Amino acid sequence: MDKEQRIPELYGSLVFNDKVMRDKLPKDIYKALRKTIENNTHLELDVANSVAVAMKEWAVENGATHYTHWFQPMTGFTAEKHDSFITPVGNGEIIMDFSGKELVKGEPDASSFPSGGLRATFEARGYTAWDPTSPAFIKDGTLYIPTAFCSYTGEALDKKTPLLRSMEALSKAATRVLNKIGAKEVTGVSTTVGPEQEYFLIDKEDYKRRRDLIFTGRTLLGAMAPKGQEMEDHYFGAIKPRVAAYMHDLDKELWKLGIPAKTKHNEVAPCQHELAPVFDTTNVAVDHNQLTMEIMKKVAEKHDLVCLLHEKPFAGINGSGKHNNWSMITNTGVNLLDPGKTPADNIQFLVFLAAIVEAVDEYADLLRLSVASAGNDHRLGANEAPPAIISIFLGSELDAVVESIENDTFFENINTTKMNIGTTVIPHFTKDNTDRNRTSPFAFTGNKFEFRSLGSSISVSGPNVVLNTAVAEVLDRFYEKLKDVSEDEMEPAVHSLVKESLAAHDRVIFNGNGYTEEWVKEAERRGLYNLRSTPDALPAFIADKNKELFVKHKIFTESELESRYEILLENYSKTLHIESLTLKDMVLSQFMPAVREYIDKLTASVSARSALNINFGNKTDLKLIRILSDAYDKVFELTGKLAEDTDKAEGMDDSLMQAKYYHDDILEDMNSIREVADSVEGYLPDGILPYPTYEEMLFYV
Ligand code: ADP
Ligand code: MG
Repeated sequence: MDKEQRIPELYGSLVFNDKVMRDKLPKDIYKALRKTIENNTHLELDVANSVAVAMKEWAVENGATHYTHWFQPMTGFTAEKHDSFITPVGNGEIIMDFSGKELVKGEPDASSFPSGGLRATFEARGYTAWDPTSPAFIKDGTLYIPTAFCSYTGEALDKKTPLLRSMEALSKAATRVLNKIGAKEVTGVSTTVGPEQEYFLIDKEDYKRRRDLIFTGRTLLGAMAPKGQEMEDHYFGAIKPRVAAYMHDLDKELWKLGIPAKTKHNEVAPCQHELAPVFDTTNVAVDHNQLTMEIMKKVAEKHDLVCLLHEKPFAGINGSGKHNNWSMITNTGVNLLDPGKTPADNIQFLVFLAAIVEAVDEYADLLRLSVASAGNDHRLGANEAPPAIISIFLGSELDAVVESIENDTFFENINTTKMNIGTTVIPHFTKDNTDRNRTSPFAFTGNKFEFRSLGSSISVSGPNVVLNTAVAEVLDRFYEKLKDVSEDEMEPAVHSLVKESLAAHDRVIFNGNGYTEEWVKEAERRGLYNLRSTPDALPAFIADKNKELFVKHKIFTESELESRYEILLENYSKTLHIESLTLKDMVLSQFMPAVREYIDKLTASVSARSALNINFGNKTDLKLIRILSDAYDKVFELTGKLAEDTDKAEGMDDSLMQAKYYHDDILEDMNSIREVADSVEGYLPDGILPYPTYEEMLFYV
C-alpha cells in the first residue's frame, strides 16, 4: 500500500496530540499536563519547561524551524507572529531552543488589533497565553501554539478567552444541577460542537478579474445566468473531477492537522459545497473551524481555484452558512441531549431541554446578534436561510412531550408500545424520530441542537459564547429552585420546575414554516424579537439584561462589552464603506466604459448605414442605443448619489447612527445601481465587460 492510503498514520501526524505527549513526556509531566487539560488546573512552570522541550524536539523532527503563538483577535481571523527556535551560543553557532516561558506567554504588539477603545488608555502591549486544551500543531514549517489574547490589564482582546470562560460557566452550572438531580458522579460538563461549513469554489482566473470579489468577497454587479439553482440538480449531485480532486487534497491536509473532516457534498447552488467534521469539544472545534477555513483557501490556490467563504457571493442563488451542531457531554461520557432509554435519563434530559428553551427564549436577541454581520444580513430572512426571528424546532414527538408536561396529561409514546407511566409524572419517551425542518434557526436533531443562523465566514466562537452562557444562567436558576429539595421529592419537583419553565417560554417553540409572512406576524404576536439587520441587532450587546448576564458569569466585563459593541458597529460600517467604494470604482471604470464602447459601436454602424442609405437594422440599433444610454445616464446619476451619501456616512460621529445609515441608505443606493446595471447586462455582447459574468463564473468549474 502506498503511503497516501495509510490514512490512520497520516491523521494527526502534524499534531502534538495525546499520543505524542505520552511518548515524549516524562510520566509525571504527562500526568500533570493531562490534569490541566481535563480539569483546567493551573500549570506549573517546571511542567511547562518540560513540555516545551518535548514540543520543540517533536517539532524540529517534523521539519519546523519556527514557533508562533496563534490567536484569534476580534477581526474574526487568526493572527500569528513567527519566531525561530535558533539561539546563538557563541562562535557563530546556534542551538534550537524553546523554553517554558516562551510556550506559556507571548507579547505581541497589540496596538494594531481592534480593541474598541479598550487599550486607548492603557499600554499597547498585549499578551498571548497558551491554551493547553487545544493541541499545538505544525503548519508550513512552524509550530503553532493555540493561545488566548488579552491586554496588559487582562481584558480579553480575542474570541478564545470569552469562549473558555463560557465553557467553564456552563460546566459549573450543569455539574451542580446534575449532582443535585441524581448524577452524583459527574464532576464536569463540556460542550461539543460540530460545525458544517459551506463554501463556493470558482476559477482563479475569473476571481482575479472581479474587483468586487477581491475587495468585498461578494459580487456587487452581475445579472443571473439563464440557469440558477431552480433545477435542484446540484444538491448532493455527482462531484466533478476538479472539485473532487480539491476535496481529496483538502481532506488530507485537514486530517494531517487532526481535523476529523467527515462529510462532503455539493450544496444547493452551483459551485457550492459543504464540509462537516466529526464534532469535538467546543474550543477545539472553534480552532479547527478557523483552520479549516484557512486551509480551504490555501488548497484552492493549489488547484487554481478560489474558495469563497462570504455569506452571499452571488445574488439570486443561495448563500453560505454554517450549522453549529451543539450539545453537552459529562466527563462520564453522557450526552445530556440524548433522551436516553429510561425515565431517569429523561429527567435529566427534560431539565436540560427546558433550560435551553428558556435560555433561547430569553436571550434570543443575543443569539441573533451573535450571528449578525454585513454578509449574513443578505441571508437571514431570505428564503434560503433561517429567518432573523430566533425560534426553536423540537419535532412532533418532543412537542407532544412538552404538551403533556404543560397540561399534566400522560404522554403516550407514539412509536413504541404504550408504557405504564401512571406512576410517574415524568413522561417516558425515546429519541425523537428526527423529522426535519430546514427553516428553523434552532432545531433539535435527535441528540443535539443545530443552530443554523451562522454565516459561513464567522468564527463559531461568538454564538457558542452566548449559548453556553445563557444556558448556564438558566441552569443556575434551576439549581436555586432545586437546591433544598430532598431526593424523594426530586421527581415531582423537577416536573413542576420543567412545567413552569416551559409554560413561560414555549412561545419560542415553532414547528411550522419559518419562511412565511404569517410566521413573521405570529412571532410579533408572541412578542419574539425580529431583529432584521446587523445595526438592529447589535445594541442587544449592551442591553441591561444582557450586560447583567455576561458580567455575572464573568464572560465579559462591562468595558469588554462596550468595546466589542463598538468593534462590531465599526466593522459593519467599514464593510459597507468598502463595498460602496468598490462598486463606484467598478461602475465608473469598468461597467460604464464597456457600455459606452458598445453604444459608440452601435452609433457608428447606424451612421455608416445611414450614409449609405441603408435603413434596415437602424431602428433596432437606435432602440438599443436608447436603452443602453438611459441605463448609462441612470447608473452615473445613482453612482453620484452613492458617492455623496458615502461621504456623508463617513463623516458621522455616532457609530450606531452611522451603521444604520450605511444599512438604510448606502445599501439601498448600491441596490438601485445594481438593478439598473444588471437589467442591461444582457444587451451587451459577450466579452465586452472586463470582468466575468455569473454564467462564466458559476458553470464552468
Ligand atoms: P445532519 O443529520 O444534520 O446531516 P449529522 O448527524 O451528520 O447531521 O451531524 C452533523 C454534525 O453534527 C456533524 O459535524 C456531527 O459530528 C455533529 N454532531 C453529532 N453529534 C453531536 C453532538 N453530540 N454534539 C455536537 N455535534 C454533534
Ligand atoms: Mg445538519
